[in-house]
Amino acid sequence: VDAALLAGVLMRTGEQPNASDVVNYAPFTLLPSAVPRALFEQAYAVQQDFNLLVDAVSQNKEFLEQTLASTIKVDDFTARLFRIYMQVLEEGLAQTVVLGINRSDYMFDCGLDGTAALRQIEINTIAASFGGLTSRTADVHRLVLKVLGKSEEASQLLPNNPAKGLALGIAKAWELYGSQRAVVMFLVEEVQRNIFDQRCVENELWNRNIRVVRKRFQDVFEQGSLDASRRLYMDGQEVAVVYYREGYMPQIYNEQNWEARLLLERSRAVKCPDIATQLAGTKKVQQELSRPGTLEKLLPGHPEAIARIRATFAGLYSLDEGEEGDRIAATAIADPDHFVLKPQREGGGNNLYGEELREVLEKIKDSPERTSYILMDKIKPQPALNYLLRAHSPLQASKCISELGIFGVYVRQGQELVLNQAPGHLLRTKAIEHADGGVAAGVAVLDTPYLV
Ligand code: ADP
Ligand code: MG
Repeated sequence: VDAALLAGVLMRTGEQPNASDVVNYAPFTLLPSAVPRALFEQAYAVQQDFNLLVDAVSQNKEFLEQTLASTIKVDDFTARLFRIYMQVLEEGLAQTVVLGINRSDYMFDCGLDGTAALRQIEINTIAASFGGLTSRTADVHRLVLKVLGKSEEASQLLPNNPAKGLALGIAKAWELYGSQRAVVMFLVEEVQRNIFDQRCVENELWNRNIRVVRKRFQDVFEQGSLDASRRLYMDGQEVAVVYYREGYMPQIYNEQNWEARLLLERSRAVKCPDIATQLAGTKKVQQELSRPGTLEKLLPGHPEAIARIRATFAGLYSLDEGEEGDRIAATAIADPDHFVLKPQREGGGNNLYGEELREVLEKIKDSPERTSYILMDKIKPQPALNYLLRAHSPLQASKCISELGIFGVYVRQGQELVLNQAPGHLLRTKAIEHADGGVAAGVAVLDTPYLV
């Protein structure tokens, strides 16, 4: 724990989430977890393809419209985002520079013969976090291995600094915006426990002499304005880039915050992500991407990228009204342990499994509400023993499974992709008792891959 504090693996406390007088360590594993080298390399090798794909989806109005048509009839949150999307398209985009920061998450599915396969869980196109803290955890694990007399193994832990690469993307977008005076605005939460993760990215920007301000939606509502050419000002200070670390959960939006979101989207500031890219990250889009022929339409002339992308897909199923949806709903009700039921939500704790999945699906199977969900094959990784360190919790060995995330960053100016990178990774590990949830949700903890 001292090593973690020393390395900066930090989080504010639940009691005082908005003050740094007292802080604690962010939860982490005692030991690094084994990750198959081939799958780790496969995940890195496909990341630039995923960047291309997300960017292509975000520019394809027809695809987004068709894909989300049934969802927005029943899911108010997606509908509201979609309305802003249509509104800004009608008005015409004020900015041709696009900055994407995402994280594609995977688990290692264990087949009947014991071999593991890389399976994408989801791609996060807004507020993908832990690119900062993860850069600090390898130092802790290196020390632990040394203390255990395993210095050879310690030397094999990979360097990893996603925050630096994310900041590089933000800096590029800031530069293309073209105003020395303008600032980068981090759009942050009301409750800021994970501030140190964000500070890692922020510091990289200050190191490049780029000014950063931290504001909430409420601040934007109170201080934000656009000039005649839709330049965004916060109390007179011009904003070049808006980096959202908030905005993906319906609960945080009151009417004022929706108004603030619309103002940001209409503005000339580079949005990371813009509203189209946020929509490209919905579970419904993920499910439609897995339909035969869809990738070919979205990425014409990229057969190799398509093959790499498709190789990571798990089984995904539409619950839209009709025969196809009826059939898969019946299959999942009969065999719920092979599926995950997912609504259009982010942030952990929203998916349904097992008996709960069966109950909910039974209830909604003949109603339009069904279409606000998708079904996915449940991934079953091989568990391994580890110790999860969490403040004020007893230390005990747990059976754990891990989720690997690869960060992606890209910048497009008009039709030209000027930056496309995979700047680092994140490994999160949780005890197998928990079906769902990430680090922020208090379920998973930070880990470091040990390649085998
Ligand atoms: P969120 O947007 O809430 O993060 P995810 O799709 O990432 O939604 O699901 C949350 C968590 O649920 C994941 O981190 C993973 O632990 C678990 N999970 C999601 N999909 C699957 C799946 N197909 N098989 C097994 N576990 C899954
Ligand atoms: Mg997730």
